[in-house]
Amino acid sequence: MTFEFPPFVNEIFEKFSKSGFEIFLVGGAVRDIIMDKNVVDWDFTTNATPEQILEIFPGGFYDNQFGTVGIAHESSIKPYEITTYRQEWEYSDSRRPDKVKWGKILESDLSRRDFTINAIALDKDGKTVDPYNGQEDINKKLIKAVGDPVERFREDALRMMRAVRIAAQIGFEIDNDTFEAIKQNAESINLIAKERVKDELLKLLGSPFPYEGIMMFQNSGLLSQILPELEETIGVEQKSPKRHHKYDVWTHSLMALKNCPSADPIVRFATLIHDVGKAKTQKITPEGIITFYNHEVISARVARAVADRLRFSKEQREKLWILVRRHQFTVDERQTDSAIRRFIRNVGKENLQDMLDLRVGDRLGGGATETSWRLEKFKERLDEVQKQPFSVKDLKVNGQDVMEVLGITPGPKVGQILNQLFAEVEEDISRNEREYLLGRIKELDKI
Ligand code: ATP
Ligand code: MG
Repeated sequence: MTFEFPPFVNEIFEKFSKSGFEIFLVGGAVRDIIMDKNVVDWDFTTNATPEQILEIFPGGFYDNQFGTVGIAHESSIKPYEITTYRQEWEYSDSRRPDKVKWGKILESDLSRRDFTINAIALDKDGKTVDPYNGQEDINKKLIKAVGDPVERFREDALRMMRAVRIAAQIGFEIDNDTFEAIKQNAESINLIAKERVKDELLKLLGSPFPYEGIMMFQNSGLLSQILPELEETIGVEQKSPKRHHKYDVWTHSLMALKNCPSADPIVRFATLIHDVGKAKTQKITPEGIITFYNHEVISARVARAVADRLRFSKEQREKLWILVRRHQFTVDERQTDSAIRRFIRNVGKENLQDMLDLRVGDRLGGGATETSWRLEKFKERLDEVQKQPFSVKDLKVNGQDVMEVLGITPGPKVGQILNQLFAEVEEDISRNEREYLLGRIKELDKI
């Protein structure tokens, strides 16, 4: 292979061979090099023990029981990881082996890896060791288990999610036998710690092919284990006279995800599940109209339960909840400024763009156009009201003025009048004129 390693990678190769050890590049890095992609994650495997690795790189940090030494270097955001050949992988379920045994040979390390495309080693001269024909599978764009897929998924059920996630990241398909094995074992994903399930789910959602990934989850039976709430939307019809919907809720949800312009996995997740509550709120009127009153409230409740179950962080949970709870916002041009301000307060300034991105996904995923003049107008008004006063301090009159106009001394009345003025200005910003407000102070005094 003709590939120029970066200087620090060459340095690692050289230091190890000078000390008499074998060392190979493995995993995602090899895959990326073969696919002509940027390497973000440099993983090496060696016959040196962690102690010996640390002798070669005294600055390395050895912080886990799996024999990985991390080396931080300015040339990479992620540390370079050097791992002693493994005989067993760290199983992700509770059956984790007590102690990882260090293997002696490269081949046994590769045989413990998950997929053929991840079981290729590359030496310092660019020569590959590829006992499972991973390069062939890269050319065929196939994710295929190393060895017997059923056995490999029994060893570690997280590999099932990894297969789908990696497929979504690099646009590959899953080999038939491997896919059948996922179908057979899908239920065992429940043995895996929820944090790890979440990590895979969010990586998948943040990938270039989130729609395809969720479809693979569904077809393999993993989705009904991980996110049964979303499957409940399959076949929930929303077509109805005089309504714009053309898909059932499930298809709409997936199309919304596919069309969501945000790259943020939480925003994409919110877009995917924003309508889950429709499964529980569907009603059909005598005229044959289908309604989903308050579905955003129920969806938000479901979103919270899902986020708790999958151990989302506090920030992730809050953001998900807000986006789902507020997704049904109206963009009516007759809304008052204060209604728009209330919307901003409810959603939070920091989430406004994400909320709009969800709306774009929602619109396109329902067969509508990306935007409308009303939505554009609404965005303009979001900007406008944010430039306008938000607090009593921004009024063109202050407490001193109130006291002078009414000839009173400091007391609760001053605050009451200011708050009343503020409420009025919030309704209509053009009222924030000094002369006008001085007049209003007198009138309010009479009430
Ligand atoms: P990413 O870094 O984006 O998560 P990756 O393919 O590099 O993707 P890592 O989790 O960094 O995956 O793992 C590095 C390598 O370790 C993989 O390419 C694979 O060979 C192996 N590996 C990781 N997890 C497992 C597992 N659960 N079972 C078997 N092999 C695994
Ligand atoms: Mg990696």
